[in-house]
Amino acid sequence: MIGLVAATAAGRSAAAELAQRWSDARDYDEPVAAALRRAWTECDGVVCFLAVGASVRLLAPLLGTKTTDPGVVCVDEARRFAVPVVGGHAGGANALAARVAAALGCEPVITTASDAAGIPALDTFGADLGFRVEPGSDQAAVGAALLSGTPVTVLADATWPLPPLPANVSTDPEPTAPLIAITDRLIEPPRPAVVYRPPSLVVGVGASRGAPAAEVLDLVDDALNEAGLSPLSVGHLATVDVKLAEPGIVAAAGSRGWPLAGHAADRLAAIAVPNPSEVVRAAVGTPSVAEAAALAGGRAELVVAKRVSRHATVAVARHAPRGWLTLVGLGPGARDLMTPRASAAIVRAGVVVGLDSYVDQVRDLLRPGTRVLASGLGAEEKRAAAAVAAARDGHAVALLGSGDAGVYAMGSPALALAGADIDVVGVPGVTAALAAAALLGAPLGHDAATISLSDLHTPWEVIERRVEAAAAGDFVVTFYNPRSRDRDWQLGKALALLAAARHPQTPVGIVREASRPEQRVLLTTLAEFSAGPDCDPEYDPAYDVDMRSVVVVGSSTSHVVAGRMVTPRGYRWQS
Ligand code: SAH
Repeated sequence: MIGLVAATAAGRSAAAELAQRWSDARDYDEPVAAALRRAWTECDGVVCFLAVGASVRLLAPLLGTKTTDPGVVCVDEARRFAVPVVGGHAGGANALAARVAAALGCEPVITTASDAAGIPALDTFGADLGFRVEPGSDQAAVGAALLSGTPVTVLADATWPLPPLPANVSTDPEPTAPLIAITDRLIEPPRPAVVYRPPSLVVGVGASRGAPAAEVLDLVDDALNEAGLSPLSVGHLATVDVKLAEPGIVAAAGSRGWPLAGHAADRLAAIAVPNPSEVVRAAVGTPSVAEAAALAGGRAELVVAKRVSRHATVAVARHAPRGWLTLVGLGPGARDLMTPRASAAIVRAGVVVGLDSYVDQVRDLLRPGTRVLASGLGAEEKRAAAAVAAARDGHAVALLGSGDAGVYAMGSPALALAGADIDVVGVPGVTAALAAAALLGAPLGHDAATISLSDLHTPWEVIERRVEAAAAGDFVVTFYNPRSRDRDWQLGKALALLAAARHPQTPVGIVREASRPEQRVLLTTLAEFSAGPDCDPEYDPAYDVDMRSVVVVGSSTSHVVAGRMVTPRGYRWQS
């Protein structure tokens, strides 16, 4: 819940505006000091339409710790700035300021050092991977070292898909202060150090009916403790399906906030374990519950073999982290046609893979320490393989493509190589066809086909058959890759096939460099365009089509209204 607090009429009206637009907002319509006090205790974040100074005075007596306090954002009377005042990271105030800025059109003023320098903040580092900070860690000292450029070492037991780390950070198997440690092992680090507990451990649990929760917990704690493992690294408890409702297991998991997962007995039975038991198989249908459940669902090794108490068994496995691959569509060119999600994915990635020109397009977004694997045109297979290999090694990889990364782009070659051992996320982008259509009017109002005229990967006979099918089906057609220096006759041939089935006045839109500085948009007809430079002495060189263009050919119902290309939604619609 986001609390809204205001003192003046202008502030109240801004608060009312947000309250109306945000379903999670609550307007505290009472004297400002009381309102702020109440919002502070009741909300996750507070937007305060009040001077920063006045807010600071009111907030001072309320301040607790930065991990528990809500984030507070102040907005000035003229709605020019949204200033996170407390709780920038853990309290979410920086993110809330961005939200306020988007809603009210003001500018976020971010003053937390790491954000300004593009360096990850230690209190939220790895939070999206489930990392927890070991209490007593020295965030302030290590954070200061990180920012000041003095050497900081990272000790990580495994490769996690981390955000980029600046050049003064190096990995080191020897813990050296100032230190960032990512480990599930109980260690005595040199100081200053921040120890992150990744969710790498899965505790498999079995119990007979009526097993007391305290007994289960004792067994888990002893197992972890004797193996030198931190309970903060327990990602979840796992058991066999039929024990999911066993009260002792449920209560043990609940008391520590550990999620509880259940696996089918036949699935557990298929997992090789060191200590199977025929007695257990006879009872629940799998020779192992604790060991198999600990190992289930990933690349895992058993770090604590089955331990038994009177009513319970536990085993602990360490799971290898999964790298991820994000397919990021950059849109047709203009920065404001790239989605915020695409920018966030690029900022977050530890490794960015793409064509040199795409990487250049987003270079300002790359954080210090981002590893860039750029290559020239034509090296598609190599780029796809490099991206998948980096994700397989455990990194957070962003594979860039123009438009949408899955449309005539890197998505399919990459996923053809990617196994189930990595996570894949697609970030859709505005394709060239959509960007061109928006410039032309509404040419895609009814069924449409996109056809690439490049015979590099597809034999021309196949392309020709598809053009004929589109002609027969009366589809609007967007041609990608329409013409290059070495492929100069294909477009003419394709247009002739369409012209045979469509009237000469069928509108044709040619869009070159959509949304880029050299953008050119031309609307013509099939007859005029097909004439081409060879037949038409009046040929307009503006019709020049190249590899940076798309050509949109209307269907039999497409027409031009006030200079715009329109394809009606259907015969039953007026237009
Ligand atoms: N993934 C891209 C397509 C890549 S194929 C997408 O989703 O749009 C490359 C072809 O896309 C080019 O030959 C050209 O036909 C088209 N194209 C890409 N960007 C374009 C732009 N800004 N304007 C016009 N056509 C573009």
